[in-house]
Amino acid sequence: MELIVARHREDLVKARRGGEVALVPTMGALHEGHRSLIRQARARADQVVVSIFVNPLQFGPSEDFSRYPRTFDADLDVCRAEGVDVVFHPDPGEMYAPDRQVSVSAGHMGTIVEGASRPGHFDGVLTVVLKLFNLVQPDLAVFGQKDAQQLAVIRRMVADLDLPIEILGAPTVREPDGLALSSRNRYLSDDDRQVALALSRALRAGAAEFTPARIRAAAQEVLDAAGPRLEVDYLALADPATFADVDESYEGTAVLAVAAKVGATRLIDNVTLTLNPA
Ligand code: AMP
Repeated sequence: MELIVARHREDLVKARRGGEVALVPTMGALHEGHRSLIRQARARADQVVVSIFVNPLQFGPSEDFSRYPRTFDADLDVCRAEGVDVVFHPDPGEMYAPDRQVSVSAGHMGTIVEGASRPGHFDGVLTVVLKLFNLVQPDLAVFGQKDAQQLAVIRRMVADLDLPIEILGAPTVREPDGLALSSRNRYLSDDDRQVALALSRALRAGAAEFTPARIRAAAQEVLDAAGPRLEVDYLALADPATFADVDESYEGTAVLAVAAKVGATRLIDNVTLTLNPA
């Protein structure tokens, strides 16, 4: 089947066929991480829709909206190679009416950890994701564990607003040296890239420990050793569903998450670990 490129909401309606529909929301500049999400969608659904939309609502005023990479032609090649059925690529004007009023709030979860550093970010994410759900009407949607708090707030929205959509989480795809793939990695110089490796190294060091205090300390030590070119924003050990900090008595799955800037490029990464296994 020929790949359909939908620029307008009506195009999406025309592209609809019977069977299960999977949506993979992205901001484009597609890499192996996105490809793994698409493959997971392909394996589960009859029709795969990939959205490519750099969502202005989820960028703060001093963030990189205007310089976010846009590589649409290459993205289409990736989608063709992965057997995607429909690419939804709207203009901001198609998504947001100038007189719009109503948006989604991520609540408290939107104000902690990543949300504390990026006020309004998760509200912007949820607003666009809900709109994409309404426009595409998927049966399931695939999101990366790479953005662990994003996955958590989306699951919360689906539960709290009774959305009839199954949410699948996909594991983080990494470079052989451990760096998590990101559209923003292309901005890293060779030197920056070496500094950036401290993120995944810190997470591995943390994951080798068994108590919250030791996990945090081991990861922090690696971050501290990376030197002043790594500007750490936060290191958090959190409940993966709520992103509340875990204490020493916590049992079960936790997420160790880190955010840092290398030069002008802000990177995030996380690992999942199990605390106090019986
Ligand atoms: P983005 O285009 O960065 O907004 O990401 C679109 C989707 O791809 C999100 O669900 C991300 O979590 C996911 N994603 C981004 N990077 C990776 C990665 N390295 N591995 C797996 N999924 C990823």
